[in-house]
Amino acid sequence: MDNHLIIVAGGTGSRMGAELPKQFLEIQNKPILLHTLERFHSFDPHLHIVIVLHPDYADYWRDLAKTLGVSIPHTIVKGGKERFDSVRNGLSAIDSAEGIVGIHDAVRPLVARQTFETCYNSARIHGSAIPVVPINDSIRYVEHGKNQIADRSKFRLVQTPQCFELSLLRKAFEQPYHPSFTDDASVVESLGVSLHLVEGNRENIKITTPEDLRLANVLLNF
Ligand code: C5P
Repeated sequence: MDNHLIIVAGGTGSRMGAELPKQFLEIQNKPILLHTLERFHSFDPHLHIVIVLHPDYADYWRDLAKTLGVSIPHTIVKGGKERFDSVRNGLSAIDSAEGIVGIHDAVRPLVARQTFETCYNSARIHGSAIPVVPINDSIRYVEHGKNQIADRSKFRLVQTPQCFELSLLRKAFEQPYHPSFTDDASVVESLGVSLHLVEGNRENIKITTPEDLRLANVLLNF
């Protein structure tokens, strides 16, 4: 059974306030997307990689990859309106009958080898593997202008790569889009499937704001 990876980079990242989508911003003279691509390739050189790009930036990446001499094989697919559409487009580029598919946010270049291996190996056994980390801060439930303490031990922060058996993922993405689909776990869960959680790594942050960019710059030095 082959291992596949869909790197979703189809967003335009308005929260960063930069001109370029955040996946193309540079850390240590290298675009974030390239850090992510190289990291996964180093974990498994046989991984089949699909990169989903916003239609306005597919040629931009092709040119950039050429200029930077990127030799890691990957298929480029155009993204859609929602992350859900982008993943669906990425899935359609996989022509295998079986295997494990991981879906990873392009803007998480700090995924650890341990997280990668745990996710793919667990998905092979359980059908799914969702990397999560516990919450260290206290949390509050806020609604209608009121707030109250919540039990942080009952919550987890969810990361990527979220890994699934290919057939399960295909079935999940045959569903119509729903606004509650904020990640791939939520799409699969809506089939009535229980998800298997595994340990992620705390540094595997989703680079979203300028502060995250500064933090990732420091963490990538270790
Ligand atoms: O918007 P958000 O930060 O949740 O995006 C998570 C990931 O999904 C990013 O890597 C982004 O590029 C990707 N995405 C996508 N297609 C969209 C929206 C987001 O591939 N339409």
